Amino acid sequence: MRIDLHTHSTASDGTLSPADVVIEAARAGLDVVALTDHDSAAGWAEAELAAEAAGIRLVPGVEVSTLLGGRGVHVLAYLADVGYPPLAAELAAILAGRSGRLPQMVERLVAAGVDITADEVRAQAGGSPAIGRPHVADVLVAKGVVGDRAEAFATWLGPGGPGYVARYGTPTEVMVRLITDAGGVAVVAHPWGRGSRRVLDAAGLARLRDHGLAGIEVEHEDHGPEDRAALHALATELDLVPTGSSDFHGAGKVGHALGCNLTAPAAFERLLGLAAANATASGRPASGAAAR
Ligand code: AMP
Ligand code: ZN
Ligand code: FE
Ligand code: FE
Repeated sequence: MRIDLHTHSTASDGTLSPADVVIEAARAGLDVVALTDHDSAAGWAEAELAAEAAGIRLVPGVEVSTLLGGRGVHVLAYLADVGYPPLAAELAAILAGRSGRLPQMVERLVAAGVDITADEVRAQAGGSPAIGRPHVADVLVAKGVVGDRAEAFATWLGPGGPGYVARYGTPTEVMVRLITDAGGVAVVAHPWGRGSRRVLDAAGLARLRDHGLAGIEVEHEDHGPEDRAALHALATELDLVPTGSSDFHGAGKVGHALGCNLTAPAAFERLLGLAAANATASGRPASGAAAR
């Protein structure tokens, strides 16, 4: 069984439609794929139809933007009922924060001498509810200001860059609890990605586990071999489920091909069991994929 639990579509900042992500996942030989767009479930329905047609199992997910001590932490929510009102309200607040910061980002870029408008970025995002820096980056690429998204982040959009504007995120422990109460399971995405090892150490992960955290993403391209080994040991020590995923973004992120990292079948089964238990405990309907 080949299982990839983290992918993005045009419902956030990937470059393939939700259906095409699923079709490509089946083509890549995956048996299970999770669609985990940033802060939005807008791609789920289209992806589910495509999954049925392609004979692959879809796990509905969201990669939620949270904040821990002022630093960003991405939390993967699997199988949660996104209609649970407190969770729906938080996701709406995060998306509003994304849209709200766009004019400020554009203003700063213009002040730094870049010719760009908010409408150009909105057009680039093509109706994605989760407008983000990658869409700004794509406009900069289209205008020839930079060569690719990575250069856009390094030069203009990263923390401290001329176009950087912070945005709203739910406190991490609050979001982990909301996901759990919504009958889903929460998994910290790339916990030590991009030099963030100091944000989440063993004590921090243990605290999140006390709020319901189910797992941590261990196998991810942002983690080198030593970090993977250390995170595996931590997962065992803290009784957290270790997962592995591509974080596929289509052409938007190189080196993240579908299936480049995988989740072990036993780990996936543990997540399904925890989701079912959380759904029962909270009285939320077990989500479609968990019930199948
Ligand atoms: P935002 O969601 O607007 O805060 O933008 C952050 C997103 O941009 C991340 O979730 C990644 O998907 C993407 N990203 C961050 N850094 C880079 C980079 N150096 N190159 C390409 N994409 C990036
Ligand atoms: Zn992304
Ligand atoms: Fe992420
Ligand atoms: Fe991601």
